[in-house]
Amino acid sequence: AKTAGRRTHYFFNDELREQTERQNAIHNRMRNGLKQHEFYLVYQPIVDFSTGKISKCEALLRWQDENGNHISPAEFIPVAERTGLIHELGQFVLEQACIDWTLVHKSGYPIEVSINRSERELNDMEAAKQWLSCIKQHNIPSSSITFEITESLLMSNKQRQLQILHYLRSQGVQLAIDDFGTGYSSMNYLQRYPVDYLKIDRSFLNHAPDDRIQVALLDALLRVARALDIDVIAEGVETKQQWELLQQQQCDFAQGYFISEPLPLKELLEFLRRWQF
Ligand code: C2E
Ligand code: CA
Ligand code: CA
Ligand code: CA
Repeated sequence: AKTAGRRTHYFFNDELREQTERQNAIHNRMRNGLKQHEFYLVYQPIVDFSTGKISKCEALLRWQDENGNHISPAEFIPVAERTGLIHELGQFVLEQACIDWTLVHKSGYPIEVSINRSERELNDMEAAKQWLSCIKQHNIPSSSITFEITESLLMSNKQRQLQILHYLRSQGVQLAIDDFGTGYSSMNYLQRYPVDYLKIDRSFLNHAPDDRIQVALLDALLRVARALDIDVIAEGVETKQQWELLQQQQCDFAQGYFISEPLPLKELLEFLRRWQF
């Protein structure tokens, strides 16, 4: 039993070392990839149920490395967060989204854009001020930008980050809580923090409308949000049944493959032209 234990121990260390090496390799490739323009954005439309129109899009980061392989953000974002490269990546995302949104607005679509921010990006007031001046430089009204942050940040009660969130919002930027319902979220946090939108994770309605409990939870969440004047965006809407349920329950916004997958800018403009206006 003793030798087996020791072997497990070695195995564990090997695994850890491999993991670290893999992370370092990804970090270096990412840093290089930023210089080589291997990163780009795609945009996923979000529908406003009250008008039936696309009222905003979420910017999602994509990486096609030098060998032509697509690496998922679920893989590279956590590495960037750990190594700190998320600051450079985040700067790129904001800058590119502003450039793209100038074109979207010029093309006649007065819609908003939602941008993901990692917790680690929110610990620096100077960075936040830089974001605002970037938005201003591009002549984008700050109110047409939403920053999405995950619910874990709200629960961690980190004063500096919360102060920065308050500051951003005071300057007109909107805030959304991302992935609501995946952590140990409590509706209690909602009354204390400055938020405009709740994005409910797709796991919240993946079995709806057949699962009566999910339907009941959705109904309760929508009531609380309405009372607090927070708009709800349902994520990962994949089926007509989910769409109809959300509409019937008076959810505010929907996003998901049922409407559209995330699209490169050119395709997004074509999609917007076909959808409305
Ligand atoms: P997220 O912010 O929750 O983004 C939604 C994810 O769900 C996206 O995955 C999107 O492609 C996917 N999705 C959209 N509709 C559907 C649907 O109907 N069904 C299913 N199954 N999935 C759907 P993606 O693009 O792979 O991004 C994964 C995560 O990576 C994001 O989750 C976000 O946390 C992170 N991420 C992406 N771009 C950025 C970024 O620019 N900055 C930061 N900090 N994180 C980012
Ligand atoms: Ca998001
Ligand atoms: Ca989400
Ligand atoms: Ca409202």
